[in-house]
Amino acid sequence: MNATNVDPAELAKFSELAHRWWDVNSEFRPLHQINPLRLGWIETFGKLHGLQVLDVGCGGGILSDAMARVGAHVTGIDLATKSLKVAQLHALETQTPNVSYREVSAEDLAAEQPGRFDVVTCMEMLEHVPDPASVVKACASLVKPGGRVFFSTLNRNPKSFLFAILGAEYILNLLPKGTHEYAKFIRPSELAAYCRDAGLQTSASRGLQYNPLTQRYWLDANTSVNYMLATQREA
Ligand code: SAH
Repeated sequence: MNATNVDPAELAKFSELAHRWWDVNSEFRPLHQINPLRLGWIETFGKLHGLQVLDVGCGGGILSDAMARVGAHVTGIDLATKSLKVAQLHALETQTPNVSYREVSAEDLAAEQPGRFDVVTCMEMLEHVPDPASVVKACASLVKPGGRVFFSTLNRNPKSFLFAILGAEYILNLLPKGTHEYAKFIRPSELAAYCRDAGLQTSASRGLQYNPLTQRYWLDANTSVNYMLATQREA
């Protein structure tokens, strides 16, 4: 196993909560709520039906499962054993077709199966790893030439500190305290540079907004807090 690009404390945080991945009222509520939005955006670039899709840092499988349900053949990978077990059990219980989960790093899978996937997703994961550029590079080699890679993470600026850490963890209690570390947040320009270096061209970005009063999420052009990037591997 590639044990270098992983923070054991990060995995421990997610493992501790693993049994609650599919409880929509748990700490994972925000991921459940944004899931239809991100899947919808991904599918504006092309339907996933019938495609080979890799979900990097899949956790309990919230996105993996949804992509399989629209007809993709999904492989979810993560390094938190408990989360993968929960993902697998959920697929079994709900009879989700064409989804499988594996404990392997993106870097190791890239060495094993380069160019195997039509689409790679890597959502809300880069801000938890020591070397995000290495994960971006692995995603680029896992996707076929011309294939798409989607990332999402948190921007780094005073507003994202206020919203994603103070607001979400300390005021609204949407996330457990300590979920995110400000220094690991990634500006869109930095993520786009990692992508460029890895041979991925950025084609679009989208920001994710939340209104605490209505408790609703929506997408728009404002990438100042949580955002997604759509990229494409050079053909
Ligand atoms: N992508 C999922 C889960 C996001 S939570 C979703 O958006 O619904 C972040 C996930 O990243 C956790 O499941 C955690 O275990 C995983 N993770 C953290 N560091 C990792 C690493 N180095 N390699 C793979 N997964 C990692």
